[in-house]
Amino acid sequence: MLTSRMASDVEQITTFLRAHPGKNFCSPCIAAGAQLTLMRVRDALRPLGHEAVLNETVGACRMCKRYTFVRGLTADTEQSPDDRIVELLSDDGGRRLCQTCITRGLALSMHVVQKAIWRLRASAIVSIDVGACASCQLPRVLLGRNNTFGR
Ligand SMILES: [Zn+2]
Ligand SMILES: [Zn+2]
Repeated sequence: MLTSRMASDVEQITTFLRAHPGKNFCSPCIAAGAQLTLMRVRDALRPLGHEAVLNETVGACRMCKRYTFVRGLTADTEQSPDDRIVELLSDDGGRRLCQTCITRGLALSMHVVQKAIWRLRASAIVSIDVGACASCQLPRVLLGRNNTFGR
């Protein structure tokens, strides 16, 4: 279960890793970069690893050069957040997700997701509805691709 503290820790970690795309870091260096304790980083990395958001590999840490288990985000930043959100909403034949799950699922910052959602809504690609999120099951404001509504 992801607590709100963990969610904000995840946010801090992904913000740090986003700033260094394609580079891998060991846990202590991620902790230093995200300004969190090592224990909180370990807790927060678990759900991130599950969602395969992170590259997890054995290699040299970019910061301390130690050869160990390292993590990072891939450098494929060419795909816009807008496209990635639409792709996420199209999974499993179309599903509706809350903003929190979208943000977490794509490992983007809340700010980036908010702006992308605003653009997608303006171009009528997605629309807003209220109901149970397909991922966290909570009653939330949901986003869905327009052609997945009303089925
Ligand atoms: Zn390191
Ligand atoms: Zn959700």
